[in-house]
Amino acid sequence: MIESRSPQQPNDLVVLVPDNGIEAVAESVELSRVAAAAWRRLPALARAQALDAAADSLASASTELIDLVVREVGKPLQEAIGEVARTVAIFRYYAQATLDPDGETYPSPDGTAMLMSRRRAHGVAGLITPWNFPVAIPAWKAAPALAYGNGVVLKPAPEASAVAMRLAECCASALPDGLFSVVTGGADTGRAVVETVDAVSFTGSVPAGNTVASAAAARGIPCQAEMGGQNAAIVLCDADVEGVAGVIATAAMGYAGQKCTATSRVVVVGNPAPLTEALVAAVEALIVGNPAMTSTDVGPVITSRARDRVLAATEEARARGGRLLTGGHRGDGEGWFVAPTLIDGLRPDDRIAQEEVFGPICVVLSVPDEATALAVANGVAYGLVTSVFTEDLNRTLSLVEGLDTGLIRINSPTSGVEFYAPFGGTKASSFGPREQGKAAKEFYSTTQTITIALA
Ligand code: NAD
Repeated sequence: MIESRSPQQPNDLVVLVPDNGIEAVAESVELSRVAAAAWRRLPALARAQALDAAADSLASASTELIDLVVREVGKPLQEAIGEVARTVAIFRYYAQATLDPDGETYPSPDGTAMLMSRRRAHGVAGLITPWNFPVAIPAWKAAPALAYGNGVVLKPAPEASAVAMRLAECCASALPDGLFSVVTGGADTGRAVVETVDAVSFTGSVPAGNTVASAAAARGIPCQAEMGGQNAAIVLCDADVEGVAGVIATAAMGYAGQKCTATSRVVVVGNPAPLTEALVAAVEALIVGNPAMTSTDVGPVITSRARDRVLAATEEARARGGRLLTGGHRGDGEGWFVAPTLIDGLRPDDRIAQEEVFGPICVVLSVPDEATALAVANGVAYGLVTSVFTEDLNRTLSLVEGLDTGLIRINSPTSGVEFYAPFGGTKASSFGPREQGKAAKEFYSTTQTITIALA
């Protein structure tokens, strides 16, 4: 059995769930496969109505889901409210997407035959998800998988088991029996999913994602993997320092820095002192504490191990000559709290500037010019998102041209995702086709090319 405990109150056992093995996983996949064979043949309008009903069911369970997200993964209330609202919107969006054109026609090869393409579902999509967006990530995978005619077996992170089961319950009430199920468990359960499904969509860390992608390739099934980031915010000399500092502080420390899109490097062009000072003030103004309070900006990190990792990274950075600007210690309370931590005085190739820590920790790097800023921002193994803060259009365009991340956000925080636009990274951050928006169709269906010659 696996325990999921509340990170702000570790003696609060949220749920105890089975660590499912290959037999249980194979059984869920088979049930889903049978249901999916009928589901993909339903009229598109019937699938649209079912997904809309799932959205209704999620909307009516919103308050309960929000409370569960806060309790199980320590997400601050305001962010949990936003995440659940987004989840409902995602289901409504993909309900309508079932009615989109699903193919093309081509000129007849001989003047009489019809030549056309159409999209067809794979069968069962296995979804392996992290704990940090416990409703939105399963939703942005499950809703398109279902919309384009697949069944779904979701393997959530153990730390988010209760939220995943409630999400699936809401959806299952609107869907055919067995079409959408959850298999709880750890990495072995995830491996069993990859071994049994017809396509796999993963979100999580780079090592786990690479293992999943290799196993999927060995089976010859489609795979997409969205993984970590080491995201930079570039601040040019003309930026409004006070405004930018507030935006970056929230992007770096919101939800205790536990977002793949969190800012972990601030790259300042020119004199770094004014921005550094404003950033320290903005970070220190954030309210750290009980995530159930409306005013809280930063809750706990997910586990004691995660807290130790942040504190160890801080110590290592200091030992290498880094200057602690603020934070660097445990937070108050019985949970896994860490004070939001800012460090400067390190080189861009220092480990803390290169590797994802996944906590409320961020380094400030000073560079002489824009060309160096670009090289520093691009100079990591990851490629998820970069922010640029400037009011100069020429500089904006030249940086957009040079940045190699999958997402580029001008005068916007690195954290922030629009569910109706393509989402994904480059380099180590991503493998396979993009998620979200209409781009999801590419992954959750395949193209058949059909020739119909007249007799
Ligand atoms: P994780 O990699 O530890 O786990 C993710 C999921 O994979 C879990 O369900 C886990 O049980 C499963 N898993 C682990 N090893 C596996 C294996 N060998 N085979 C199959 N399944 C396996 O990640 P986490 O700690 O849950 O989440 C944090 C990570 O997720 C961070 O690196 C973060 O950047 C990343 N993340 C990325 C995005 C994105 O869209 N790019 C979004 C959110 C989180």
